[in-house]
Amino acid sequence: MTHRKAIGIDLGTTFCAVAHIDPYGKPHIIPNSESERITPSVLLFDGNTAVVGTLAKQNSVAEPEKIVDFVKREMGKSKDEFSREFGGKIYAAEELSAIILKKLKNDAERYLGQEVTDAVITVPAYFNDSERTATIHAGQLAGLNVLQIINEPTAAALAYGLDKLDQNQTVFVFDLGGGTFDVTIMRIEDRHIKMIATNGDHRLGGKDWDDIIVNLVAEEFDRLHGENPLLDLQSYQELQSRALASKIQLSSRPRTIIVHSHNGKSIKVELTREDFEAFCAHLVEKCKAICEIVLQEAHMTWSEIDKVLLVGGMTRMPMVRNMISEVSGLPLTEHVSPDEAVAVGAAIQGILSQLQEEDKGAEPTLPAETRQQFSSREGGLIQVTNITSHSLGVVLWNDSTLEEYVFPMIPKMTSIPCELKNAFGTSQANLAKVLVRVVEGESSLPSECTPLGTAMIELPPFLPKGSPVEVTYHYTANQVLEVIVDAYGKQSTATIERNVGLSESEIASATASLSLLRVE
Ligand code: AMP
Repeated sequence: MTHRKAIGIDLGTTFCAVAHIDPYGKPHIIPNSESERITPSVLLFDGNTAVVGTLAKQNSVAEPEKIVDFVKREMGKSKDEFSREFGGKIYAAEELSAIILKKLKNDAERYLGQEVTDAVITVPAYFNDSERTATIHAGQLAGLNVLQIINEPTAAALAYGLDKLDQNQTVFVFDLGGGTFDVTIMRIEDRHIKMIATNGDHRLGGKDWDDIIVNLVAEEFDRLHGENPLLDLQSYQELQSRALASKIQLSSRPRTIIVHSHNGKSIKVELTREDFEAFCAHLVEKCKAICEIVLQEAHMTWSEIDKVLLVGGMTRMPMVRNMISEVSGLPLTEHVSPDEAVAVGAAIQGILSQLQEEDKGAEPTLPAETRQQFSSREGGLIQVTNITSHSLGVVLWNDSTLEEYVFPMIPKMTSIPCELKNAFGTSQANLAKVLVRVVEGESSLPSECTPLGTAMIELPPFLPKGSPVEVTYHYTANQVLEVIVDAYGKQSTATIERNVGLSESEIASATASLSLLRVE
């Protein structure tokens, strides 16, 4: 019997964490080969070797041109929008992410003493179709069978709720990480974890707080020495890591001093927590506004929330904690480590996915006790239901206004997986083919939505105007869309030509080329 070992991976903007479930059903964090429980999401190219983690981070100041960080912010972009060149090879965002995943896989294998075959990787709930597809590709490129892509807040709720599934409650997951912000309302009821509403800003995170300090020091430097230290990459990296350290210091101390040298000149800036909080007030306000929006979307008030679950390193910051306890009126208790909860939840989902596969006929490899632990008293597996975080639509032609508009096929907040069908009439008589344009977004104007791709179907000749073409949107558990267009016995599955860096056909050759790269 071959045992497939699954791990849970929190692929963060600034840090990653990996977890697994032991044979007794208990979750554990897997330390990396440097014995750290989290690995910085930073990579350094050194000839034929890619170094990932703390060592790369430490070198970010000395050799900034060989460094890649914050790659998560670039996921889902085409190679034209983002790529990095090292050693004559051009890397797309998902290839760089794959290198980080490879390090995590290698280290987990070394620690567990067995091959890791499968993984559940987490993404912010707000990630769209391209960002999720790019994450699946990154996992495949790293040689992992991606069992599922799950939302970070869902993972956090799973980690929190595993031993509390008998207590029905509504949980508000506030996740502020290094680069993304997510808020999600989850309901735990009768061993079923259900996502109710979600919102977020995937360009808001710890880095924005760091940048406030970076700019403050740079402006002071310019005022004193008439020179902008940020124009020099090395000086910029140096200041960035000082700013991050000072920000963390201000979480436990009332003041900090930042010293920065550049071009033989130096500066010393004192910053109090009070001033820092005043400079960052607009960022905290942004978080607060998103909390209110998600409550409105769930048709709820704070009085209906039982617990606030804090996730992400930034929730250690007093200004963030004070804001949440003020608006929610709830005590903030740490139930799970904010850095580790997401990876643990992903590992739990890994076991659930494997058990589901066994239920569908796969060879059973997990011990009977594991199944028991992850089942309800009635014997069924713990259920997790997610909802869509964006509306998915199709572009149609309005005959009366003579304008294009977006028809929402799958509205935001629909439980997934789901399948929705609709028949539309052709816009002209004798149309030779129909091009179905798939978009994502909340607006009815195509220009305000993100184009996801197209599906083409040929029609028989001499059809009158208004002849029906059936369009089916199938949204998988990974929140990746499949589109089927049906007309007159012909069926066309839209291979959505996505905007991601690598096409499906490029994945195999990219996997082979990445396998030649040494990852440490
Ligand atoms: P994550 O992406 O969840 O790992 O969050 C990492 C972010 O949390 C980074 O921006 C860190 O600088 C920040 N962070 C971690 N610990 C603290 C702390 N004690 N105070 C303030 N920020 C922190």
